[in-house]
Amino acid sequence: MASPVEKDTALQHPAKSVAVVGGGVSGLAAAYKLKTNGLKVTLFDVQDRAGGKIKSTSEDGFIWDEGANTMTESESAVGRLLDDLGLREKQQFPISQNKRYIVRNGMPQLIPSNPVALIKSNILSTQSKLKILLEPLSWWHSDKRSSMKVCDTVIQESVGQFFKRHFGTEVVDYLIDPFVAGTSASDPESLSMRHAFPQLWNLEKKFGSVIVGAIRSKASGKPKDNVPSRSSSDKKKHQRGSFSFHGGMQTLTNILSCKVGGESLKLNSKVLSLSYDSVGDSPCNGWSISYAANHVNDSDLMKSQVFDAVIMTAPLCDVQEMKFKERGNPFNLDFLPKVNYVPVSVMITAFKKECVKRPLEGFGVLVPSKEQENGLKTLGTLFSSMMFPDRAPKNQYLYTTFVGGSRNRNLAGASLNEIQEVVTADLRKLLGVEGQPTFMRHIYWKKAFPLYGLDYDLVLEAIEKMEKKLPGFFYAGNNKGGLSVDKCLYSGLQAAERVISYLNEQKF
Ligand SMILES: Cc1cc2nc3c(=O)[nH]c(=O)nc-3n(C[C@H](O)[C@H](O)[C@H](O)COP(=O)(O)OP(=O)(O)OC[C@H]3O[C@@H](n4cnc5c(N)ncnc54)[C@H](O)[C@@H]3O)c2cc1C
Repeated sequence: MASPVEKDTALQHPAKSVAVVGGGVSGLAAAYKLKTNGLKVTLFDVQDRAGGKIKSTSEDGFIWDEGANTMTESESAVGRLLDDLGLREKQQFPISQNKRYIVRNGMPQLIPSNPVALIKSNILSTQSKLKILLEPLSWWHSDKRSSMKVCDTVIQESVGQFFKRHFGTEVVDYLIDPFVAGTSASDPESLSMRHAFPQLWNLEKKFGSVIVGAIRSKASGKPKDNVPSRSSSDKKKHQRGSFSFHGGMQTLTNILSCKVGGESLKLNSKVLSLSYDSVGDSPCNGWSISYAANHVNDSDLMKSQVFDAVIMTAPLCDVQEMKFKERGNPFNLDFLPKVNYVPVSVMITAFKKECVKRPLEGFGVLVPSKEQENGLKTLGTLFSSMMFPDRAPKNQYLYTTFVGGSRNRNLAGASLNEIQEVVTADLRKLLGVEGQPTFMRHIYWKKAFPLYGLDYDLVLEAIEKMEKKLPGFFYAGNNKGGLSVDKCLYSGLQAAERVISYLNEQKF
């Protein structure tokens, strides 16, 4: 976490206080880092619990996640956070996590995990396999330079267009489409390559070939930040792919909330307005935040508190509803474009083991959009109790199925009966389930994921503008820098670092 120098500098000003708006994983990480650096923190969340899109529930011997199910550790700062929080012993790695499936012609096919397996698999035609193998060569020849020029100018390229250029349509339909559906519930044509896959986008710029770039950057394997690299056994331990925690993902947010401390958490507190004032060297400089307790918009119940800086982690659609003032003048957010969000329904089902005729061991199965032609309507299913056997009674299988996304927005918000039918029908086709589930829960996320669309530049520019124009205001969260839990944790930690630098630069 923080270096001793950082801590010392922050501790010189123990009275400085910071508001964190939003108690999802981004806000919790930010609040934790600020607190461990000796700052006073107040974290506001409109809900009666912290955690945001991370929520684990248990009932009748089942444990399931309503939002994020697993995370990875692509940022070393996140690894250090997990160490600091003492979470290593609670980490839970899925059994056979490399066994992941994609549906082709109505049936799950194992996703090849290496080039030899890819050649042997039936997931792609011979023509597409050749196209993949020859991608480094084709980019080395004539196309390379001209295409690279195209990339420089076509910054609004979609994920679909990008991968079509490199590997052809079939790869997009059967590998990229299900992957983006599984990670962001969106589709390749709506997503911006530059914002959804910035590393691959940059690899292309540097190397032309995505495959050559991936191999060379893996081989060079430089650590991302200025932190001494770990020993190789340490690295192996920390790079075992996706993981959760005993008890579900909420174990992470519970520990963070606990460390932030009950007195710092203002739950049931909806932030309504933020006002920055600066009067010469007056001690009143700073942010005044008004919030309504217990969801009530009634002005009698409105309270106000003053802070030196603010980290905003609420989704931008909620920020757009807040009122901002800067030195007495309304600060209009009309430059902030409307962010498109993707809806998802999550369906938890359990079946007696003898009622699942073709159970699959592994992580889960993804359904490409094309497979709708074969009557499949879900986005994909996680084999929850195959991954984590302690999440269901021994005689049952627990599944987590995702429905809707940008592919099928209306279905995400359909009635419980309709969603149950769709899920049971897909599980029948894919795994041979018979009869109805013994257990079922449904969660509807109306705004599950922000869509990093083709014009997402405008959103990021607007965030930058807010940060520039509003002194001591910083933004973190999944509207910026990535949707995954580890990117959100990283974004919160980084925002906290920026606040610490900002406060250290202020005159006191
Ligand atoms: C169904 C689903 C499955 C997912 N699966 C995975 C996965 O397997 N792996 C993975 O890495 N990621 C996954 N994700 C993505 C990941 O969970 C999220 O991107 C991440 O948790 C977002 O964290 P956040 O803190 O940025 O935002 P949020 O969790 O949305 O937190 C924002 C908080 O702000 C609060 N808030 C809003 N308005 C106000 C206000 N006016 N005043 C006070 N508080 C306010 C909200 O109540 C909320 O708690 C999944 C997401 C969903 C929805």
